[in-house]
Amino acid sequence: TGTRKFFVGGNHKLNGNRQSLHTLIESLNNATIPSSDIVEVVISPPSIYLETAQKAVGPRIQVAAQNCYSEAKGAFTGEIAAEMIKDIGNQWVILGHSERRKIFGESGELIAKKLKHAIEVGLGVIFCIGEQLADRELNQTDAVISSQMKDILGSVPDWSKVVVAYEPVWAIGTGKVASPQQAQDAHHFIREWLASNVSKEVATNTRIIYGGSVSASNCNDLAKEADVDGFLVGGASLIANDFITIISSAK
Ligand code: PEP
Repeated sequence: TGTRKFFVGGNHKLNGNRQSLHTLIESLNNATIPSSDIVEVVISPPSIYLETAQKAVGPRIQVAAQNCYSEAKGAFTGEIAAEMIKDIGNQWVILGHSERRKIFGESGELIAKKLKHAIEVGLGVIFCIGEQLADRELNQTDAVISSQMKDILGSVPDWSKVVVAYEPVWAIGTGKVASPQQAQDAHHFIREWLASNVSKEVATNTRIIYGGSVSASNCNDLAKEADVDGFLVGGASLIANDFITIISSAK
């Protein structure tokens, strides 16, 4: 994988409370995991807990917001700004998650604006893309991925701040994980897309991580694939031992 450091993110979605989060962070802080040269680890609790999480994590764990808005401030009730995420010491934000796209109707255009602003503020962005089941059945997977990548093409001030998360929608929260070959094919396609549309260097250096029903039992086979540079984990990231096993699949 060259210069690409393995990356494992835990997306808590709308789950947990102060107590469960502290218990989870305590377990992660005390776990024996591969060194920071081998794997970067990020957890993403709901926004109301981001600051408490930031204060609780040890040096091996970073914190990500699950979303942010495209503007620094103003009349945008209910939103949080990248500036605020940065202000409390978090280093990452997840953008474009399929639940944001589907349930909250976020467009590719809005996601691109958010991504540009977050990177300008200095956050790293975990940018999520992926096809729905119907797309795959109609052989439109590559077309959907290209189109979602194209959405952000003119909006990335610094590609070193982007981690691309390939998350086939049919695999998210379903227990139906992509096969290692399906993941590898999509990741390879994304890397080739980066080589053609951005640069060879960005293609080589950008982490492309897989998400969708990653578990302690399937992570090792997925991690073996050449273009799988880590994982974005939902359900299993709430269970300390499972998340630690997934972190330890780093190659
Ligand atoms: C996710 O929310 O990004 C995700 C991949 O969820 P799960 O691991 O539960 O499928």
